[in-house]
Amino acid sequence: MHLIAEPDRSPLKIAVLYDNEFLLHHTGPHHPENADRISSTINFLKNDSKLKPNLIWPTFSYASIDVINLVHSKEYIHLVKQESEKLTDNTSTLSTGDTVISKQSYQVARKSVGAVNEGVDQIMRGKVSIAFAFSRPPGHHATKDRGMGFCIFNNVAIAAKYLQKKYGINRVLIVDFDVHHGNGTQDIFYSDNSVFYFSIHQHPFYPGTGRPNEKGSGEGYGYTLNIDLPKGAGDEEFIHGLKSQLVPAMDNFKPEFILVSAGFDAHENDLLGQLKYSNNGYKKATDILSTIAKKYASNRILFVLEGGYEPTNIKEASESILNAIISKN
Ligand SMILES: [Zn+2]
Repeated sequence: MHLIAEPDRSPLKIAVLYDNEFLLHHTGPHHPENADRISSTINFLKNDSKLKPNLIWPTFSYASIDVINLVHSKEYIHLVKQESEKLTDNTSTLSTGDTVISKQSYQVARKSVGAVNEGVDQIMRGKVSIAFAFSRPPGHHATKDRGMGFCIFNNVAIAAKYLQKKYGINRVLIVDFDVHHGNGTQDIFYSDNSVFYFSIHQHPFYPGTGRPNEKGSGEGYGYTLNIDLPKGAGDEEFIHGLKSQLVPAMDNFKPEFILVSAGFDAHENDLLGQLKYSNNGYKKATDILSTIAKKYASNRILFVLEGGYEPTNIKEASESILNAIISKN
């Protein structure tokens, strides 16, 4: 008698990383990077009957100082702790620049890193192949020793180093489609040929870096790829950039893991950005990333929230991404 294995009909699982503690990093009234950005997305994902069967919600803890130190200097980590914990009810600005902090910002930033690394662990242990971290504060402007923009610790950069150190992953792709260039991530991996940094963003715009002639240095030359788009560019330019530049570059690089700096401030209805991506554009982009992941990376993609300042856009665009993943599997 032959035993025929039943086809696996269980729905594809995606890990969503979120903790209510993310709401405790206060930025003061009228700051675009505030707790309200993500609450409606989380409520939607928890209650939407269509996506619910596909989502799992792992818990996680604070990243250790040693893990954060994979990217950031001990001096900078200490500075963040000291400058945030001395605050009372007020907010202030990190002495390294323009990043608003409150009393719990250090702990929340550690938890934001913890969320992203739990996403890595879930994927690398084979629990899921896709995860999405809805964490804050975001990270892609933070350099080794400097908070910048709305970013304290560089969540995605730490995840790349963590993947290499803990799991021996050799080649990591970081795709950054936030409207702003991720100067911190670029800087951290600029001379590194084991992490490929791809960014598509608005120019001219904050922080001013990310020109196409910034391609990396030394061994890392050719492992940074920037596409800058003029104000008003939309899905057509976004998808063309991915197809014409990212895809061929990945046929050479062959990433083993894809991290996505998923900012939604390039959405057509964002308050800060002036690009015009639609929800369908995010779907098409996800299809392209999924194809690369299938070909080279055992399907492994971890999305990490960066910017995006209109809650409805974050909700709808992330729903488009999740639906695109589910329909492809
Ligand atoms: Zn941004």
